[in-house]
Amino acid sequence: MQGLIMDVPLLTSMIVKHAAAWHGDVEIVTHRVEGDMHRYTYADAYKRMCRLANALKRMGIEQGDRVGTMAWTTYRHFELYYGIGGSGAVIHTINPRLFPDQIVYIINHAKDRVMFIDTTWVEMMEGLQDQCPTIEKFVILCDSGKMPKTSLRNAVCYEDLLAAEDDTFDWPEFDEKTAVALCYTSGTTGNPKGVLYTHRAMVLHAIAGTSSDHPLCIDSRTILLPAVSMFHVHGWMVPYAAPISGTKLVLPGPHMHGDNICRLLEEEKVTVTAGVPTIWIGVLEHLKKTGAKLPHLKICNIGGSAPSLAMIKAFEEDYGVAVVHAWGMTELSAAGTTGRLRQRHQDLPADERYKVQQTQGRPLFGFEVKIVDLDGTRLPHDGKAVGQMFVRGPWVAAAYFEDDAATEASFDAEGWFGTGDMASISPDGLVRVSDRSKDLIKSGGEWISSIDLENYALTHPDVVEAAAIAVKHPKWEERPLLVVVPRPGAEVTPDNIRAVLAEHVAKWWLPDDIVFVEEIPHTATGKISKKDLRENFADYRWPAASLEK
Ligand code: ADP
Repeated sequence: MQGLIMDVPLLTSMIVKHAAAWHGDVEIVTHRVEGDMHRYTYADAYKRMCRLANALKRMGIEQGDRVGTMAWTTYRHFELYYGIGGSGAVIHTINPRLFPDQIVYIINHAKDRVMFIDTTWVEMMEGLQDQCPTIEKFVILCDSGKMPKTSLRNAVCYEDLLAAEDDTFDWPEFDEKTAVALCYTSGTTGNPKGVLYTHRAMVLHAIAGTSSDHPLCIDSRTILLPAVSMFHVHGWMVPYAAPISGTKLVLPGPHMHGDNICRLLEEEKVTVTAGVPTIWIGVLEHLKKTGAKLPHLKICNIGGSAPSLAMIKAFEEDYGVAVVHAWGMTELSAAGTTGRLRQRHQDLPADERYKVQQTQGRPLFGFEVKIVDLDGTRLPHDGKAVGQMFVRGPWVAAAYFEDDAATEASFDAEGWFGTGDMASISPDGLVRVSDRSKDLIKSGGEWISSIDLENYALTHPDVVEAAAIAVKHPKWEERPLLVVVPRPGAEVTPDNIRAVLAEHVAKWWLPDDIVFVEEIPHTATGKISKKDLRENFADYRWPAASLEK
């Protein structure tokens, strides 16, 4: 027996229609690529989305056509999310920090027809466009009269394009399972893999994103600064979730350094922010240097990689900001766990509570989670057993876009998606990611977690950043090598870092060598690039003391 409820498809256009109607006066503030500040409202944004949708129609963009974007976290990119997706086409957000051959690969794989591009990357794309024959037209995201001189194919100015159109649009209704967005994972091995999202998945996940227990922590009173790229997993769902709750947005554009972020947090009285640990290293360094405080900020949502204990403590104890940890990935549409504390955890003594905050939190509604051993047998949720985490849910990828080999390798016989992350789950549901399976260090048949070593190293006050990698060892198979960026001018030695580590880990976990570097390489999504580090240390040889062990 079927229920008697309206069969209204879940389409992303619903979200902006709602925002324009009921949160029309709420502001979106952007620190523009051009350097100045731009302010307007959800109602203004909506009109420009309508203009954009009309322009796409005039260009002959049809339902299902892929439209690429190469753009920062700005109001224009926000408009593209809806103008493209809402009209039935597919927004393909390209991460411009990928290697050029990966960018070419994903544009060709996606068959993007039009590309909307910030001025930052015009020159780069001029060099690549001949290898991207599917792109018929480039739209440059710049003010009228400010077009850069460019050889990009059929280049037009975004503002001129919008100015020529009507600011109303009749958003089409279609099947909610229609594709709306396409994101590629960075592809640390092999080619990037595409995840093709449906309208239904985006709307459902966006609604979940407005729950007060979701790591975004937003509602209609929030002023949110997403220090997150809109070209990375839907900007962690912010562009889809914020308009539902009528959250004021403060968008940093390309200005993601500590000083710029701190200025926006202060001037716009931001209450909640979100980003990867690398961003917060910069912010905390800036605050330390200037002695500035964060009087308005209440919550910092950290994900993408695990924040260190030192970072969680610094936010809370020095600035009164609660860290909410989250774990997620492209294939999950964004966050899969939330570190919002339950009441019983909130009341713990600080040191105990920090231990909870260091875990990735508990699975969000919408995800079934299991950990399994190498044979696929389910492991208990006892906080000890570590296995690969698999997930299933209405906004989890069901396959990779036109990539049978990758699909074959990533889904199990029950159709669950294998995250590639190794984790334990405690009896009260706390997920603890110990590593990406390929980053674990296998020493004498036992596993060492690189994430744990890094986080404990960061409890040393003079360690700014740390990365542990496996290096082949003649006796132990692999041993950990710790690469450290020391605080400039600090007198830090391998021995005193080892002493700090020894307080937390078993002796056999201690790195056989600790090397100091000025900088650690990062991936296109701001995480430590273990792949590059492993390459940099490909010729590394263990010191004699390690070989004698
Ligand atoms: P990319 O590889 O392009 O960065 P994703 O953003 O999809 O792609 O990366 C997802 C991966 O990031 C996860 O599988 C996990 O390994 C890592 N990750 C995300 N959040 C966390 C976290 N809070 N703690 C540890 N690892 C995390």
